[in-house]
Amino acid sequence: MAQVRVVLCRPSHPGNIGSAARAMKSMGFTDLRLVAPEKFPAKEAEWMATNAGDVLERTTIHATLEEAIADCTAAYALSARPREWSPQVLDVRTAALDAAKQPGPVAFVFGNEQSGLTNEEVMACQFLVHIPASADFSSLNLSHAVQVVAYELLMAGHPQVPKGLEQKLATSADREGLYAHLNEAAIRSGFLVPETGSKLPERLRRLFSRVPLLEREEVNILRGLLKALLK
Ligand code: SAH
Repeated sequence: MAQVRVVLCRPSHPGNIGSAARAMKSMGFTDLRLVAPEKFPAKEAEWMATNAGDVLERTTIHATLEEAIADCTAAYALSARPREWSPQVLDVRTAALDAAKQPGPVAFVFGNEQSGLTNEEVMACQFLVHIPASADFSSLNLSHAVQVVAYELLMAGHPQVPKGLEQKLATSADREGLYAHLNEAAIRSGFLVPETGSKLPERLRRLFSRVPLLEREEVNILRGLLKALLK
């Protein structure tokens, strides 16, 4: 996972800065940068950060966005609004997966609570990122937007499949064995009469194709059950 910086542009409520720090820390990120905050340091930020006070202590303040992201090899601008002129548009999940693959540090850039990001700020980034939301009310609270991004980054940086599961997964050969066994049971029980042209075998295949992480052990349980029923 690339190093992640979270950049808040001109935040007006210090409470949101504290909430953002907490959102980051809970997902394992600690590099918070502020561009021209209205009020920081501030008690409200500390209250909202709770145990993420260390993130606030290390937070850096910058005069411009350019300065805050100078050392990043990719920058992602977060916006609830589509823009007429913008860099490449990504949804947040795709952006997180993209960021996880970046070799250098990446920045996720958030706008002011009232006015969002300026066009110049958006254009200083290489990507425009949307968090899918209700069409009636798509604007999240600043720190909630940071939470969603941090969560997606955490998920993107972790293998989705628990360690060791690969060896346990059913192979095509295991699946074929199960399908053959199911067919045999269906025919022998009279549930399937092949001459009728029933699509049962295809339907069963389709059903099991929707179990992508089927384990060999689970195939064996089903086959054991079929064997017992056929006795
Ligand atoms: N009224 C502002 C919204 C500000 S919300 C506007 O219309 O732009 C504060 C910041 O949170 C935004 O600048 C953006 O960075 C982030 N944000 C809020 N909702 C978002 C969403 N649905 N998708 C992406 N970013 C969002």
